[in-house]
Amino acid sequence: MTTQRVHNFSAGPAMLPLPVLEEAQRDLVSLPGVGMSVLEISHRSKAFAAIIESAQADLRKLLAIPDGYHLLFLQGGATLQFAMVAMNLGRDGRADYIDTGSWAKAAMKEAQKFTKVQTAASTQADNYNRVPRQSELKLDSGATYVHYTTNETIGGVEWHEYPEVGAVPLICDSSSDFLSKPFDIGRHAVVYAGAQKNVGPAGVTVVILRDDMLKRVPAGLPVLLDYKAMVEGKSLYNTPPVFPIYVVGLVAKWLLGLGGLAEMHARNQAKARLVYDALDSSGGYYRGHAQPGSRSNMNVTWRMGSEALETLFVKEATAAGLDGLKGHRSVGGLRASIYNAFPEAGVKALVDFMKEFQKKHG
Ligand SMILES: *Cc1c(COP(=O)(O)O)cnc(C)c1O
Repeated sequence: MTTQRVHNFSAGPAMLPLPVLEEAQRDLVSLPGVGMSVLEISHRSKAFAAIIESAQADLRKLLAIPDGYHLLFLQGGATLQFAMVAMNLGRDGRADYIDTGSWAKAAMKEAQKFTKVQTAASTQADNYNRVPRQSELKLDSGATYVHYTTNETIGGVEWHEYPEVGAVPLICDSSSDFLSKPFDIGRHAVVYAGAQKNVGPAGVTVVILRDDMLKRVPAGLPVLLDYKAMVEGKSLYNTPPVFPIYVVGLVAKWLLGLGGLAEMHARNQAKARLVYDALDSSGGYYRGHAQPGSRSNMNVTWRMGSEALETLFVKEATAAGLDGLKGHRSVGGLRASIYNAFPEAGVKALVDFMKEFQKKHG
């Protein structure tokens, strides 16, 4: 058996399913039937072709990706997609961005280098504790696209409905709730997600792209920043991140095995409810950040009476085997990241700890 594992609440890189880690470990030295490690095989080999093709097929099945969409494995993280979206699809135009917090802002900052960025809505005045209502969106029907962030990993707010944007292509950064629930790809022109939150190890980014978007790609982009070249090269223009793609494939198989995204969603909702119930029943000792309608099922964020108390909470939680609960440095407070792979038993351990802590210090 592996060494003792703590409850890992890290926001990313985050927990992977234990069966996935165990399979990767078991096969690390030699892939069955191949006689070489996945770390050693050529990306042009038959063995790797089988790995990447089955990862793509399983993701397509999980998400029911409609025909007419490309599925790419790229590098550079979601951060590079912030720029690539604007470089490839936003040239000579103006793009609408919905500002829901740190990651939306980061996307806007990068995009500004290549296109005119308009703020279609912002919840900054509410300290980013919710996503905007449909009626608050000031959309430009002449925009090249609308960009939003499905789950704000730092603030802990998540969209539970899709924004309605008419005929303008809808693009989302889905890095931290990708594969956590059924998701309507067909409403979107581009969906991208860095793997290391919910889908695999750091080093690969999943990009799902509707075919008509390729017509917009301007000539002369550096090849690795060019969606058209990446589609034509089938994510194998140059050496792809072989190992992360392999692990993403294992995670996709794991999800299919447990019943797919509807089942995963039910489990995630049940886990998140336990933590939100603990916040809500604490009499204000723990104060949830997100407004109820925008609460994230992936990243639960809350504050306590003082920073000193929050620091003590993190210290005692860590000692009790609950790791990674400190909020992001930009917002402070506490954050429990409970992605797909995070087990319900760990959530229960957190809730028990919260009750004990309040009894002791409250
Ligand atoms: C982590 C994160 C990013 C940045 O991802 P990188 O892969 O580190 O570039 C972007 N958007 C969201 C929503 C994230 O959670």
